[in-house]
Amino acid sequence: MGLGKTIWASPADYLRRMAADTPVLFFAPAILQDTVRRFVRGFPGLVTFAVKANPEEQVIENIAAAGVGGFDVASVPEIRLIRRLLPDAVLHYNNPVRSRAEIAEALGHGVASWSVDSASELDKLIAAVPAAGTEIAVRFKLPVAGAVYDFGTKFGVEAEAAVALLHRVAEAGFVPALTFHPGTQCTDPATWATYIQKAAWIADRAGVRIARLNVGGGFPSHRVGADAPALEAIFAVIGAETAQVFGDDAPLLVCEPGRGLVGEALSLATQVRAVRDGDHVFLNDGVYGALAEAPLLGAPGRLELRDAQGVLRRGEARARVVFGPTCDSVDRLPGLIDLPGDIAEGDHLIFHSMGAYSTATNTRFNGFGDLRMVTVLDLA
Ligand SMILES: *Cc1c(COP(=O)(O)O)cnc(C)c1O
Repeated sequence: MGLGKTIWASPADYLRRMAADTPVLFFAPAILQDTVRRFVRGFPGLVTFAVKANPEEQVIENIAAAGVGGFDVASVPEIRLIRRLLPDAVLHYNNPVRSRAEIAEALGHGVASWSVDSASELDKLIAAVPAAGTEIAVRFKLPVAGAVYDFGTKFGVEAEAAVALLHRVAEAGFVPALTFHPGTQCTDPATWATYIQKAAWIADRAGVRIARLNVGGGFPSHRVGADAPALEAIFAVIGAETAQVFGDDAPLLVCEPGRGLVGEALSLATQVRAVRDGDHVFLNDGVYGALAEAPLLGAPGRLELRDAQGVLRRGEARARVVFGPTCDSVDRLPGLIDLPGDIAEGDHLIFHSMGAYSTATNTRFNGFGDLRMVTVLDLA
């Protein structure tokens, strides 16, 4: 995927003049930089970017240009990517399971912080990583709701076991820290408060003063609904709760948003390949492409339909079954989607808030998966 040299005013401007018969991701650097600045200004600590949400080079470069110098990486290829683009970036290697070869290469790239959620993986780090000045964050989990999709089924250790791990981290001479991820697209500030309370409990039980508390990603983007989620309200709760429960021992805060930083900056334009017998809508992109998250999180809710000339359709809404292009039955948006009744072959269905987990999870299944990225000044 490459970026075209031309910058268009908007998706409609492009669709009016260009044939868009492969899916197009419209990227608005101005919106990305605005969101980054909102985090940097509003979050009461250090803002880093979770690279997996969108590793496109232009995206990384715009995030860095807007003031973020730290990156949450989960693999050696992500580490190499960030080192190549930004030689001075700070790397937090927060995949709590790593091979010894991956640890060795990450060390060579100067990783500053690591996370763990098991004694066996901590043993590997103690054996391979010099302790002085290096942070190890113990990742814990809680059985709380608030997010659309819970990451706690794979990573994170229960609070009781986190006490012992944190104690060992400090004893081995590393800079002790705690981390959690509240689950992705988490709209409830109280979820962060609950985790922060438990972090204070873990540190107290372990008898360890933690240097930093990494409150994860999970910050919501405007995927559905009329109103955008209130990021500032979440930032305020994180700051206030940390001050309240840690008091004089308050750690420095770190966050590592993926979706919350990049979601709003890209919109996906698909083309209607067919309206089969007036009923089922077939798009040229689906769950094996940029819409990979739909089965997990629900269909993206902010849509607009434009005809082949880019003009907005305003027909009375009608619920439709919407399929992607592949021959697999699961290649379907969940539920029924309300679309203007005058939808026709050749139209473009545009999904907003598609910047996260879209470029990176796109596959080549069934020969589809061509995805063009086009730069625009604005997405409206
Ligand atoms: C995926 C991930 C993130 C980013 O999550 P979002 O919900 O996209 O903000 C942050 N930290 C870790 C450790 C992750 O695995």
